[in-house]
Amino acid sequence: MPQSENARDQEIARRIESGDTYEAIGSDYGISRQRVHQIAEREGVRPLPADERPLGESEQLAAQLLGAEPRLSYQDVAQRCGLSQRQVRRIADKAELAWMRWPVYRRGIQPWDYDEEIETGCWVWRHGKSAQGHGRLNVGNGKSDYAHRFAYEEQHGPIPPGVAIIHFCHNYSCVNPEHLGLDDDWDGVVAEMQQVDFAPAGDEADGSVEGAELATSRVTMAVAYDFDGTLAPGNMQERQFIPDTGMTPREFWAEVDRLTSENQADGVLMYMYHMLRKAAERNVPVRLEDLRERGRWLEYFPGVLEWFDRIKDYGENRGVHIEHYILSSGNAEIIEGTPVAEKVARIYASRFLFDDKGEAVWPALAVNYTTKTQFLFRINKGAHDLSDAGGINRFVPQEDRPVPFENMVYIGDGETDVPCFRLVKELGGLSVAVYPPRSRRAREQAQRFVDEGRVHCVAPADYTQDGPLDRLIRSNIDLAANRAALGLEIARS
Ligand SMILES: [Mg+2]
Ligand SMILES: [Zn+2]
Repeated sequence: MPQSENARDQEIARRIESGDTYEAIGSDYGISRQRVHQIAEREGVRPLPADERPLGESEQLAAQLLGAEPRLSYQDVAQRCGLSQRQVRRIADKAELAWMRWPVYRRGIQPWDYDEEIETGCWVWRHGKSAQGHGRLNVGNGKSDYAHRFAYEEQHGPIPPGVAIIHFCHNYSCVNPEHLGLDDDWDGVVAEMQQVDFAPAGDEADGSVEGAELATSRVTMAVAYDFDGTLAPGNMQERQFIPDTGMTPREFWAEVDRLTSENQADGVLMYMYHMLRKAAERNVPVRLEDLRERGRWLEYFPGVLEWFDRIKDYGENRGVHIEHYILSSGNAEIIEGTPVAEKVARIYASRFLFDDKGEAVWPALAVNYTTKTQFLFRINKGAHDLSDAGGINRFVPQEDRPVPFENMVYIGDGETDVPCFRLVKELGGLSVAVYPPRSRRAREQAQRFVDEGRVHCVAPADYTQDGPLDRLIRSNIDLAANRAALGLEIARS
């Protein structure tokens, strides 16, 4: 008996080493897992680590099921294969099949989410539907969205705010992006209107004249940008100014934070003060030209330098006059030294006062995150003279304001942009939060602004042609053009 038990134990030891699980071995020999474990101890053998072990029979079956039947849940697969859910999850990870069970909003719409109708080409949503038959999907945080809107954005980019999606196929459950279009795609309607209302008298009614007539319904759209983190990575002082004072950006900002909290001061005034103090200690001159010089060496997010003209041209062709504005808590003088300066109508940013020797001595204007919103009202009312305190508060009827809020876009990147995001969004304009391209963490942070209802959408800070941001702003321009052409007033909600 000991002889045969010994032989059995050696066999068990070999199976443990070859990677069989304790469960599988135990069930083959009619003994408990604990017993197998004891034998392993006695024989001095260890099981292979989970990720080196070849898959057993039921694990192989699970892997096949995971790949072939994406609609089976981990629980279903575990039940069918006699494994625990944890084991199934591990197999899914190992076989790189885990993404298939992610929620739709993370993995995108996949063929197993719809049934394709052969005749119509419609992709009929297989998951939950609204009463009218619109597909719905979870978008996290307990919220849901229409599946067709998600499908449209996946393929064509963000839907401009307030714009509905139409199904060309009239099948509400369809999520085929080729069957979906923007409801503001009114080119056909505009063309009809031109024939009725705008057709010039006489015989010069060729297309170009009609176009010119349409363009007389001119509107102005303001696009306002935060600077640091929105157009250029990092803080503008960090590239040259702070290193010149012999500090690291970290040290510099830590001292600014300390000054701010110790004195219960304004953070912007404190950083301006600290710039002057540190520069004086090191005899670093701070004249207008020194600050401007430091603006030359900034780096930008992709496409920034071509962006401003291209968007302006696009607007001009649609009868929309585009004005770009910078709204920054950073230094106006540094921004003035950048190539961006000549592309924008105005730079609203913090400024120094210079003495008769031309040296900066005092803050002349400090733009912090709450005062930033003031400049949006200035743009709205055309009250650009900062010394005219009355101008900003003077009553101007909505229809006489040069840039209505519906025609305003605010692009920013962080917490300090929240008041502007909210203001523009609530008054009918478009608010966009950008994040450094390819930074997943930053994207998730930006996404929070959407979840909290502060912005309409997020986009990578990539300003290149045909990128998501480019398409988004262009469609917003189209929207303004169409609204103007049709004399429409959008209902404010
Ligand atoms: Mg910023
Ligand atoms: Zn369809």
